[in-house]
Amino acid sequence: MILNNGLLLILLVLAVAAGWTLGRGGLRMDGKERAQLPSQYYRGFNFLLDGEEEGAVDAFTEALAVNEDTLDTHIALGSVLRKRGEVDRAIRIHQNLLKRPQLTAVQLHQSHLELARDFIAAGLYDRAEQLLLDLAGQSTDFSATAQRHLLDVYEAQRDWVAAVAIAEQLIAADTAGHLAAAQGQPAQQLRGQYLCEQAEAALERGDLQGAGDLYEDALRDQPRELRARLGLARLRLSDGDSAAALEHFHIIMGSDRTCTPEFLMLLFDICSVQEDEALYLVSLERYYEAQPSPLLALSLAEELEARQGKQAAEAFLRETLVKQPSVSVAASLVLKGLQSEASLPERQVFDRLTSAEQDYRCDHCGFTGKARHWRCPGCRHWDSIHYRGDALEQSHG
Ligand SMILES: [Zn+2]
Repeated sequence: MILNNGLLLILLVLAVAAGWTLGRGGLRMDGKERAQLPSQYYRGFNFLLDGEEEGAVDAFTEALAVNEDTLDTHIALGSVLRKRGEVDRAIRIHQNLLKRPQLTAVQLHQSHLELARDFIAAGLYDRAEQLLLDLAGQSTDFSATAQRHLLDVYEAQRDWVAAVAIAEQLIAADTAGHLAAAQGQPAQQLRGQYLCEQAEAALERGDLQGAGDLYEDALRDQPRELRARLGLARLRLSDGDSAAALEHFHIIMGSDRTCTPEFLMLLFDICSVQEDEALYLVSLERYYEAQPSPLLALSLAEELEARQGKQAAEAFLRETLVKQPSVSVAASLVLKGLQSEASLPERQVFDRLTSAEQDYRCDHCGFTGKARHWRCPGCRHWDSIHYRGDALEQSHG
């Protein structure tokens, strides 16, 4: 809970008192409103004295006069109530605002936006959508914010086609220089993710052609977009065109995305259907050169051992340790020396450490998990989860 009832009541009492004082000064209040204030104010106190905090909050909320000077107080109060989960009350406050004729167009739009936020919080997406569509069409000041909230509505409903259309509008406004400040994640990145969601739905339906077209479209603004590249590499591999799959994979290798065991499995699958037997080793060497990570060093050593023997693998691993100290690489060398002594206690400790599951972490909120999510379950950001390796890899360097 962000604010307890006691603090909320203090806020309300002060807000009503401030509004009333302004009203008595003759600022934009008619006689009827001025006359109403004290009775609701004292009714609120009666509720308080009777220990009925909920009733007191309602009475003080009603007593809060709406005018130009108290609009921000209403908006802030509604926002506090929404964050407390009291969405019905927030809706009542904002609907009350909209009935007031003395508000300017900008203030009405601001109230519309708040009401739409309440509807989203309440899961009333249809009502939020209508308000936001109107707002996006009517207000220059609030159109980008309304469009961002429309994306929230469409994401919640998994309406990816509608979400792509709104992302396109944001991209067009951005290109035309109409967006004062970027809000949230770049619209280009969001568009790519929405198209990938559609591509994966097409794959589930067995529509491989459609999925390929959608993945290609997702690369329009971001040619290195990981999710679409991975999708295309897998798709081309299943088509039997492993050369095209490898081309997509090379672009992933050249991007700044950290290699994961999942990527290596895909690379192995792509290489194993090609005639060149050394292709996997050559590809790993190329990958390690671009990204000298412990995971790649260990995979490359495994392949070297299979093709050139244990000594070549160990020499390579020791060489990497000189350039980049890594606990997991050092542990693997120790384990290689202990291979014939399976029951040694130190071996069991290393075995447990090296078999620890890998870990993924969200850059935005710190959420950690054992698998990649394209959308963080913690903060709802797209593609903010990155591979951190296993417990030993995380402690390298
Ligand atoms: Zn997150």
